[in-house]
Amino acid sequence: MFKGSTEELKIEINRLRTNKNAVVLAHNYQIPEIQDIADYVGDSLGLSRQAAKTDADIIVFCGVHFMAETASIISPEKKVLIPDLDAGCSLADSITGDQLKAWKAQYPEAVVVSYINTTAEVKAQSDYCCTSSNAVGIVNSIPEEKQILFLPDKFLGAYTEMVTGRELTIWQGACHVHEKIGELNLAEKQREYPDAEILIHPECGCSTSCMMKSAMYFDCKDAHVYSTSGMLERAQESDAGEFVVATEIGILHRMQKENPGKEFFAASEDSVCDYMKMITLENLRDALDYEQFEVKVPADLAEKALLPIERMLQIS
Ligand code: SF4
Repeated sequence: MFKGSTEELKIEINRLRTNKNAVVLAHNYQIPEIQDIADYVGDSLGLSRQAAKTDADIIVFCGVHFMAETASIISPEKKVLIPDLDAGCSLADSITGDQLKAWKAQYPEAVVVSYINTTAEVKAQSDYCCTSSNAVGIVNSIPEEKQILFLPDKFLGAYTEMVTGRELTIWQGACHVHEKIGELNLAEKQREYPDAEILIHPECGCSTSCMMKSAMYFDCKDAHVYSTSGMLERAQESDAGEFVVATEIGILHRMQKENPGKEFFAASEDSVCDYMKMITLENLRDALDYEQFEVKVPADLAEKALLPIERMLQIS
């Protein structure tokens, strides 16, 4: 492993990236140092679009495994690398290809909508992919008479059900990070920062009940449900000077950077995805130098998994 100061590491990363015609894509939940050195920082949908249009020879994906897999499906001719192969996702792990096969057998006429946080095996058996920013639009695009199997996130499913008014058949999966964000936490934060706007990610387990309460009891005022990219836009557009943000805390770095005059507070300091934090400047440098660890989806599987992703990209 390369030994050097942070500044030397950054110089090395920039040198290798240029020499190898590589692009570094980073998710909003990455550590600040990775976000600052990346060519592009975004949510799952934004990163998928970047992977599709880049003319780089190598994509280094600073995120979790299913994201690198998605990049490989979209750009099979590119070499896709992830700096740490153990960077997984509890939500993607909540349903396997075999489990989906068995679930589909119970509902042979149903349309399958899979959140992008799924493995290639699951995508390959799906009709549509979606992200938190376009789940509502995707569901609305499906004829009303069709039954929809929505997976794997039960919270995003419940939120989508509420907004669209459609009855969905929802897989009971969850992300361990978002599951930890509770109502109590938000109520406490609201008392602590009474003038703050509350920005909630739809995967966060409190969103449905919080929205219900804000409509019925007005005890969760100024709460807004957004995708991660929607949160970033709202932070810029809003006149509020303070925000309580209910999602993984990595996004606070970008919010603060883009809005220096405003203040951002985590709804829960425990909202940390350990998988996302496995990517470091050291292993990013090694990934570029040794071209490791390659994520490659077999061609036949990639071909099937590409269809629901393309349908999603067309609709959103
Ligand atoms: S925050 Fe949750 S959904 Fe996102 S990568 Fe981590 S475990 Fe997966």
